[in-house]
Amino acid sequence: MSRLCVHTITTKPLNLDQCLVEFPKRGVSGITIWRQALEGRDLATVKRQTADSGMDVVSLCRGGFFPSATAAGRQAAIDDNLLAIEQAHAIGAPLIVLVCGAVPGQSLVESRKQIADGIAAVLPAAEQAGVKLAIEPLHPMYADDRSAVNTMRQSHEICDALGSPKSLGIAVDVYHVWWDPELKEQIDLAGRTGRLHAFHICDWKTPTTDLLNDRGLMGEGCINIREISDWVDATGFTGHREVEIFSNKWWAADQNVFLDQIASSYVKLYA
Ligand code: ZN
Repeated sequence: MSRLCVHTITTKPLNLDQCLVEFPKRGVSGITIWRQALEGRDLATVKRQTADSGMDVVSLCRGGFFPSATAAGRQAAIDDNLLAIEQAHAIGAPLIVLVCGAVPGQSLVESRKQIADGIAAVLPAAEQAGVKLAIEPLHPMYADDRSAVNTMRQSHEICDALGSPKSLGIAVDVYHVWWDPELKEQIDLAGRTGRLHAFHICDWKTPTTDLLNDRGLMGEGCINIREISDWVDATGFTGHREVEIFSNKWWAADQNVFLDQIASSYVKLYA
């Protein structure tokens, strides 16, 4: 359990105070905080409360959404990412996960260029704040409006294009990349290049009834989570395994029962 992290979005009906109480009761040792959970809160207080909970702050979710059809839109995205860097620094989060963005009707090549430009614009501030950035490739079903970066290979290409800064890496989320025939070699490459910054787990349900909010608990679906996790660990990765589940089904359930299920499915997965 020493590597189990849960995202605040996973238990969306719980506010941050409730997460800080309920997660550790199940042995959860890390928390990834979504920015909406910070709304209206004093960030220094959040940092203290999280430290008091005994959990590590693993990352802040999320930055990104760099592409826009207009220069003003791209600047607004950069400004928002600079704010996210300030927030991460203030709560003691060492990493920001980037959902890179896309614009329907704009070519994916252009969107990827705008993503690289956006990351380049905010990297100096991230480095100054001691906050790392992780590109999270998203499943290609989101290539229209959520991310033009859909594979580990494309994520590596952006890191390469920006000169492989140490503070820029990749978040591997099994939901998005489990189908990729290059996955193992791209994970190996991420390990060798020091880019493996985060590892997210959940499951792919058949049928998936909602493109965004029907992720499964580990074991509910068909992803070879343990095999991918072993590939990740084989690179020397010792960070948290982050449970990130968007699920209308689970959000409608008793969150205490859900957290119990997360803990038991995690134990089963790593038995
Ligand atoms: Zn993720």
